[in-house]
Amino acid sequence: MAKKKIIIIGGGAAGMMAAERFCNDFEIAIYEKGKTIGRKFLVAGNGGFNLTNKVEKEDLTQYYRSHNFLKKAILDNDSSKMRIWLSNLGIPTFIGTSGRIFPEKGIKPVQVLKSIRDRLIEKGVIIFTHHKFIGFDEKCNCIVEHNNSEITLSADYFIFSLGGASWSKTGSDGTWTTTFEKIGVKTIPFQASNCGLNIEWSDHFKIHHAGKHLKNIKISIDRFEIKGEATITDYGLEGNAIYPLIWKVRESFSKGDTPKISIDFKPLNPREQLLDKIKNKAQRTKTFALSLNLNSTQIALIKSFSDKKYFLEPSVFITNVKQLQIPIHSLRPMEEAISTVGGIDINEVNANFSLKKNPSIFVIGEMLDWDAPTGGFLLQGCFSMAHAIEIK
Ligand SMILES: Cc1cc2nc3c(=O)[nH]c(=O)nc-3n(C[C@H](O)[C@H](O)[C@H](O)COP(=O)(O)OP(=O)(O)OC[C@H]3O[C@@H](n4cnc5c(N)ncnc54)[C@H](O)[C@@H]3O)c2cc1C
Repeated sequence: MAKKKIIIIGGGAAGMMAAERFCNDFEIAIYEKGKTIGRKFLVAGNGGFNLTNKVEKEDLTQYYRSHNFLKKAILDNDSSKMRIWLSNLGIPTFIGTSGRIFPEKGIKPVQVLKSIRDRLIEKGVIIFTHHKFIGFDEKCNCIVEHNNSEITLSADYFIFSLGGASWSKTGSDGTWTTTFEKIGVKTIPFQASNCGLNIEWSDHFKIHHAGKHLKNIKISIDRFEIKGEATITDYGLEGNAIYPLIWKVRESFSKGDTPKISIDFKPLNPREQLLDKIKNKAQRTKTFALSLNLNSTQIALIKSFSDKKYFLEPSVFITNVKQLQIPIHSLRPMEEAISTVGGIDINEVNANFSLKKNPSIFVIGEMLDWDAPTGGFLLQGCFSMAHAIEIK
């Protein structure tokens, strides 16, 4: 009996994972608008390729906003399953000190991509590049554009994995939303996630401290706390202690507030202990810095966001060491964000990732409105969704 046909539109991480999942039982074709598949996957590999994270099962589900919607997909196909999948593709992995899971040392991102692509080709998956999805016909078949001509594709099932709206040079520009709106599928405007913060530094602070790192800090916003590191840039802050807070910052902006982050430079030291170290000392910046082991960047930051008149009053100083309030001007532009939220509203989608309005169309990956921090959770989310698709 002839195999049923699945057409996958968008050859990114989620699309490749779905193709691999179904290639034994279905005839599969991938249609990708770019000249090659997996371009964002390669970009992701540039700065330390976190393929997934050691966190498993229930604990893993907690990292996902829209947690209830993704819960079953993640529980059924968690990080341990992803590691087995990678290993079967010839990509052994190891757990880094931060819990992030990387390809074994010496395996480059391009080799990971090649292993996946080779497997797909070996299994008969046909990859059409330079084919851009432009809309649906009246029967909900897909129309793609190739060499200035329109081609209508027909298949038993379509899996869409068109990505979010950041790093458009990798292909994911989010321009596809209108095509889904036209068939009555609600989409939500894209916004940056896992991105930097714009902060209004003084010129003096910028000149002397951009590029410096704030290590072992705790940052909080509205009682939501993250420990880690942040890097000072010309425009504000980036880093692993910043990205997980972005959803809170977005939430605050959406209410019309000016969000403030609070930095604790000494998260291991209680306030009273720190106060004891300076309360009987001369009220001089240098003395306080030495007594509390604060470096020049930390001191400059505290000074920048303190009331100059009371800056050296010991209890005020310690309050600023433990809870320095920094107003956020805005988020960095979506284009440079590691990921985006927005896209297809999850209420439009069944538990097996098919559209409620058309169950032979599936949507997975960053084109759906979900959110997770960096650290391997984004690719893991794509993997879990690709494996949660059920086609009989
Ligand atoms: C700098 C950076 C670093 C990252 N690092 C990590 C990391 O270490 N770990 C991690 O887990 N995640 C990381 N990510 C995030 C991760 O890469 C993405 O979440 C993931 O690639 C999303 O997969 P996707 O398949 O949904 O979308 P994408 O990978 O963006 O793929 C979408 C595909 O659809 C194609 N497409 C779009 N529109 C059309 C159209 N109209 N017709 C045909 N094709 C179309 C695009 O060309 C693209 O190939 C990083 C991202 C960036 C930008």
